[in-house]
Amino acid sequence: MSTSDVAIIGAGLGGLALAQGLKNHGISATIYEADPAPDSRIQGYRIRIDAQGQQALARVLPPALYQLFRQTASVASTEGYFLDRAGHEANGRQPEGWHQAGQNADLAPDLSIHRQTLREILLCGLEGTLRCGHTFEGYHQASEGRVGLRFAHMADASCKLLVGADGVNSRVRAQLAPDAGPADSVYLCLYGKSALTAEKAEYEGTSVVFCDGFSAIIDEMRFRQDFTALAAKAGFNGSLTQTEDYLYWALIGPGSRLAVPLDSLSLPPMLQKLIQRTWPEHIATLSVRYGNPDIAWQPGNVTLLGDAVHAMSPAGGIGANTALRDAADLAAMLHGKGLSGIVDYERLMLARGKAAVADSAAAAAKLSG
Ligand SMILES: Cc1cc2nc3c(=O)[nH]c(=O)nc-3n(C[C@H](O)[C@H](O)[C@H](O)COP(=O)(O)OP(=O)(O)OC[C@H]3O[C@@H](n4cnc5c(N)ncnc54)[C@H](O)[C@@H]3O)c2cc1C
Repeated sequence: MSTSDVAIIGAGLGGLALAQGLKNHGISATIYEADPAPDSRIQGYRIRIDAQGQQALARVLPPALYQLFRQTASVASTEGYFLDRAGHEANGRQPEGWHQAGQNADLAPDLSIHRQTLREILLCGLEGTLRCGHTFEGYHQASEGRVGLRFAHMADASCKLLVGADGVNSRVRAQLAPDAGPADSVYLCLYGKSALTAEKAEYEGTSVVFCDGFSAIIDEMRFRQDFTALAAKAGFNGSLTQTEDYLYWALIGPGSRLAVPLDSLSLPPMLQKLIQRTWPEHIATLSVRYGNPDIAWQPGNVTLLGDAVHAMSPAGGIGANTALRDAADLAAMLHGKGLSGIVDYERLMLARGKAAVADSAAAAAKLSG
């Protein structure tokens, strides 16, 4: 049986950020991930990190890795164009939480980064503490206040604090707060990436195209930098995969509009062309579910962060940002107060999660208008 102070279930953005924050504070942690390797599955493409997500990353990452995150973000503008299906400006329909350059002098503009690049950066220095191929099955209260952990086909383990960062289908949440499971919504999200070969992309920067009852979000992802050189300069000892330029797209709207073959959707011709260029294996469909952070539990030695407790629609672009903020706060509170910091952490995290779920639901409705 292996032992550690903190066991984190899930090596997604939230779990890895927590592990970085704990490492920063000298708290030992082990991350248990179900996937056989961190790159064995495509977990998504571009991810927008807003000012608050950037601050959270700055709190958990060593300065050189935080710089690497900024340097490896897309160099295309994240300034948004809100367009109707004819390509005319559709101002005033911007979802809350979308922050663009020049819009608010107090907030740094969002950065768009390739999700796998961010995961590779977050993994740097954690290699010895990551246990892949460990599918968490359940926990029990063990002697001396410890938590016993059970995995499929792997040896048991134990810890002082168990953190469920295992995403929307969290097994930790299912046991800790069975009534807090996520609810289905009417929304679907289809997303993919297509090669960016043309000199000029169909859509520049970040664009939202309001179609009939659903929307398309398109992000031009351009990487001018040599990732290997940047990684070497940052003293990064892992491998940082060079990412080719691409156009990310996502369609968000109710299933009644989107649950049809893609080629039967009525799309503006430029958007249709872009989607037709996408390799089928690069297209994913997700049924949007909303977490239930209204339901609290007795604070103790098991807690949750990120989508495990407050899954939300990608329409708001804040799910990962909220998970990163959870991670930074949990690491700081454990450092400051030990296990008694869990009470304050959960109060903060649940209130923030509730607001974020509501904001994301409002954004989904706005994008489907
Ligand atoms: C198309 C799309 C676009 C998005 N864009 C944005 C955006 O621009 N900005 C933003 O802030 N958010 C965005 N999001 C939301 C964001 O992806 C999530 O909120 C974020 O990934 C949540 O992170 P997490 O660490 O909580 O969970 P996850 O990323 O889901 O990670 C959970 C991890 O736990 C592992 N796991 C699951 N079960 C087990 C188990 N039993 N045992 C061990 N390991 C397990 C999984 O394999 C996974 O690695 C988007 C989502 C989608 C679908």
